Amino acid sequence: MTAKAQYAEWKHSCATQWPEKLSPIAKKRLLTDFYSTLGPNRLSSLVCAICSAAKLKVAMLTDPVDLHSYDISPLRREYPPTAPHPFPNIPFLRDIMLSPEGVVLISDSSVMIHICKDCHRSLQRKRLPNTAIANDLFFGPIPSQLADLTLIKEALIARRRAKSWIIHLRDDSSSSHTTGAAFSSVSPVSQRALKGHIIVFPATPEALAPFLPPPLEDVVGRSP
Ligand SMILES: [Zn+2]
Repeated sequence: MTAKAQYAEWKHSCATQWPEKLSPIAKKRLLTDFYSTLGPNRLSSLVCAICSAAKLKVAMLTDPVDLHSYDISPLRREYPPTAPHPFPNIPFLRDIMLSPEGVVLISDSSVMIHICKDCHRSLQRKRLPNTAIANDLFFGPIPSQLADLTLIKEALIARRRAKSWIIHLRDDSSSSHTTGAAFSSVSPVSQRALKGHIIVFPATPEALAPFLPPPLEDVVGRSP
């Protein structure tokens, strides 16, 4: 057999054997793994009643938990007078600060809560979770005018401005093959990291208020 014929035979065998065909069982297993990792059950989120954060289900306890299974005294806080109480008809929740979206009311004396694993660990140790809304992080209901702002609009009216030092991590393993000179490269996909403290400065957006566009109802006018 000539070299050319040998090469053709090798090429043909490669084309018929590669890529290897997956068995239906392997295909089914891969699809099952895919859905269990990225399916709606895995990616859907719940709101934690303690910290009010919407978190993926994997970061939450599987089932709602009876609020009375914890020592709830760390959650005792007075609601600010400007915010309507979310549970006015439940006497024992009068001074317990919870996010209504994470609460499942069973009766006037029984409440189940969705809770994230971080808050669960803290409450098990009878500590107030750092991110709990009862830890002076209760902002009350968001006004409808502010609910759907874009990032730029938020930045325009923010009363505080955060400054931080963001560094672009370099890949030191890169080197120039053409010149042989070693150098650090910064690729657009290189990771970034925060360095040092974040400093929050007061801002004065009031000066901008006269220049902002008026609300839509002011533009179209009201019917008499
Ligand atoms: Zn939480």
